[in-house]
Amino acid sequence: MNRPPTFLWFAVLLLLLLPTAAGRVLLDLVGGLALVLLAVPLLLTGLGWIGWKVLQSRMVSCPACGTASIKGVDRCPACGTSMPVDSSGAAPPEPAVPASDVTIDVTAQEVNSDS
Ligand SMILES: [Zn+2]
Repeated sequence: MNRPPTFLWFAVLLLLLLPTAAGRVLLDLVGGLALVLLAVPLLLTGLGWIGWKVLQSRMVSCPACGTASIKGVDRCPACGTSMPVDSSGAAPPEPAVPASDVTIDVTAQEVNSDS
């Protein structure tokens, strides 16, 4: 009873080793399946990580109870504590020195070369 499976394995091995069209098709099929099996989890992991980062950047946690909620809400949906205003996504804070004080004003002067 052990004879037919051994012969079958030998035939498959011969099919893979010999450069025949059927062997190539089988190898391509196995290679493609292995690639898909390896690539799909990696792709899903990458997409999940990107999605998690995007979600994390849009979430803010309550200082009182720690419940995560979407950025932009003024009150915590769980406990009702007013959320701190996060300025990371808003306009940058005003600088201490006005920009007009640190820029160099260049004024045009008329130069008389023929005098
Ligand atoms: Zn809360």
